[in-house]
Amino acid sequence: MKKVVKFGGSSLASAEQFQKAGNIIFADSGRRYVIPSAPGKRYDGDTKVTDMLYDCYRAAESDKNFEDKLKAIQVRYQEIIDGLGLELSLNEQFKEIQKNFSEKAGTDYAASRGEYLNGIIMADYLGYEFIDAAEVIFFTEGGSFDADKTDACLSQRLSTVERAVIPGFYGLAADGSVKTFSRGGSDITGSIVAKAVHADLYENWTDVSGFLVTDPRIVENPEVISTITYKELRELSYMGATVLHEDSIFPLRQEGIPINVRNTNKPEDSGTLIVESTCSKPKYTITGIAGKKGFASINIEKDMMNTEIGFGRKVLQVFEDCGLSFEHTPSGIDTFTVYVHQDEFQEKEQQVIAGLHRAVHPDSIDLESDLALIAVVGRGMRRTRGTAGRIFAALAHVHVNVKMIDQGSSELNIIIGVENRDFETAIQAIYNIFVEAQL
Ligand code: ASP
Repeated sequence: MKKVVKFGGSSLASAEQFQKAGNIIFADSGRRYVIPSAPGKRYDGDTKVTDMLYDCYRAAESDKNFEDKLKAIQVRYQEIIDGLGLELSLNEQFKEIQKNFSEKAGTDYAASRGEYLNGIIMADYLGYEFIDAAEVIFFTEGGSFDADKTDACLSQRLSTVERAVIPGFYGLAADGSVKTFSRGGSDITGSIVAKAVHADLYENWTDVSGFLVTDPRIVENPEVISTITYKELRELSYMGATVLHEDSIFPLRQEGIPINVRNTNKPEDSGTLIVESTCSKPKYTITGIAGKKGFASINIEKDMMNTEIGFGRKVLQVFEDCGLSFEHTPSGIDTFTVYVHQDEFQEKEQQVIAGLHRAVHPDSIDLESDLALIAVVGRGMRRTRGTAGRIFAALAHVHVNVKMIDQGSSELNIIIGVENRDFETAIQAIYNIFVEAQL
């Protein structure tokens, strides 16, 4: 088994956490390629090293004294080195960073040093080879990730390296400078490496025991999803459920490499397995519930709308011209509704209304705000009758008024629109009817 293992910031925040990660790696000889994040928070209220670096570089950029801030970062690393009893010194690296900061090497360069330095420590601690991500991960001239060049270089380089540490989050831009992915981007590095080495498994070690059925801020102690497909994950992530960086899915999907999300603090938990497809039956009819508040709906009415070919296109053209993306478009015979993000819509409200009047001459336009959308997702729904019935009975039972229903043709999800104030009650009710009642 060839495994790529990525450890998040909280898994490497201190020497103690490093040791846990080390024990996990040493427990399985298949764990050959390791992707570390920068040290994260050690306790609530602590600051991530990445944020300290951004802050330090802001001072350097505006010609303020940044040496003390840099010293504080060095202290964080030194504590880890001492706690692990390593001989390693990062003095040379910090001298170079100080020089590059004064020469204004860029925000991305600054942020990337968190992973870079943690990678050096990790490699020393494990006795693995250190490979600088700037030598193997590339971005195009346009600034997007260069998948082909990276894959060719990385797979060739790693073909002769039995065990290596490759820091997450950054690579090399076309102009030779260091460039980072967006925040949380070490997940992406992990999946890129997993693809390049044709790993059997990509393990993503974090501080939760996997992907939860729903948001723990709404439902107390929700269950962990044991197996989820990429498609289901995409639906849930789109609706706000996050454990992994969204862009980390794509490289692996192409290869069908499974991802296992695990908890560094509870390695005995098997976590969540994310797979391309599976015949393993989900435990319940639904796999997960996620949602977001803050939507608005624009309800357009016009007599005989159904006979007017091109009506929908003209309506959506108005939204496109205003630079607004739409979420859902439920329609009736003489009504057509468009759901949009409220904050984006508010700025353009009058422009949209005027545009709609001009484009389709409606009888009336009615606006509604403070709406929430809830996605109930599950591959098991296709095979089960009565899922929608159960959801709506549960919502009626807790007196939640359903404003909109949308079931995709894939039968993978049912989207429900409710008022913002009913959001939490609705999610709890849906969770109860499937998970608590074991359906
Ligand atoms: N250290 C970076 C961040 O805090 C990247 C990562 O942890 O994945 O966003």
